[in-house]
Amino acid sequence: MAHVIAHGREGFPESRPVPRIVEEAVGRFTTRAPLEVVERATDPGDGFVKYLFRLHDGALAEAVRIPLKAAGKFTVCISSQAGCAMGCTFCATGHLGLIRNLEPWEIVAQWMAVRDEAPGVVTGALFQGQGEPLHNYDAVIRAAEILAHPCGGRIAAGNITISTVGLVPQILRFAREQQPYRLIVSLTSAIDERRRALLPSASAWPVRQLAEAVRTYQQSAGGRATIAWVVLGGINTGADEVSALRALFDGVPLRLNLIDVNDARPDGYRRATDAELSTFRDELRTLGVPIVRRYSGGAARHAACGMLAAIQTDNHRDTEDTEVSL
Ligand code: SF4
Repeated sequence: MAHVIAHGREGFPESRPVPRIVEEAVGRFTTRAPLEVVERATDPGDGFVKYLFRLHDGALAEAVRIPLKAAGKFTVCISSQAGCAMGCTFCATGHLGLIRNLEPWEIVAQWMAVRDEAPGVVTGALFQGQGEPLHNYDAVIRAAEILAHPCGGRIAAGNITISTVGLVPQILRFAREQQPYRLIVSLTSAIDERRRALLPSASAWPVRQLAEAVRTYQQSAGGRATIAWVVLGGINTGADEVSALRALFDGVPLRLNLIDVNDARPDGYRRATDAELSTFRDELRTLGVPIVRRYSGGAARHAACGMLAAIQTDNHRDTEDTEVSL
């Protein structure tokens, strides 16, 4: 199986013959059921490509091929669950509810299917599609191991990013296990009451407890802990949020990722205006931490962050290479 992943859909490479006994054993103990591609939709504006897959039991999963700044390089945003139990109010996937967890092979197979068609090199993986990755912890870590393995996906562990809305026990486990992958914690509000309204399930843990878990993770991983912030115009862009952030993360090396909520929403959320964003950014700068505005692409094909809802279009974290500095 590992060779199959490393070398693509052709199976074992002819250039490095594998003993027949090994090939037979792999064939006996493994299956590689390809995912059915229901739809590929390219956003002509930015080149993001959304894939809709049908799994063996009819469940749907989505992945997004994301072009990086370097020509011919891509990363792939993959789903860890069909649907999601977290119910974040600004997220289309959250409205689906949880359909089921994906198996490690179903996660890896999305990445492989997209990689096999990429017009260049896929150098990363981003667990930011459908689902809360840490809600399916074991399968996600297993999939990440396969993607990073020299006989598997061969991508650097540091190019595998796992995004969470803040499941405290799992963040502490991730830190305890010293997982080598990058973790992004989506906070979106540093004020308990507001966060409960926006991310109801993730708010089972008060923001102070979440901040302590982030502190523990940062001490274990080193570097800066990355906090993501979905910017919701008129809701979480005030000075009260900046004060709360300062109090929560005093002394913790942080990086802040700002992600615009996508427009044209039926739920009433909207992007911050330029003036609002500019004021918020000036307030955030007083924290003295790097701030990056992430580009969330593919909106025209329902491929952008928070838009993955297993819908076919008629024709979904962000990556280092797609950042736009403020
Ligand atoms: S934002 Fe992420 S965790 Fe929240 S509902 Fe959407 S997919 Fe689930």
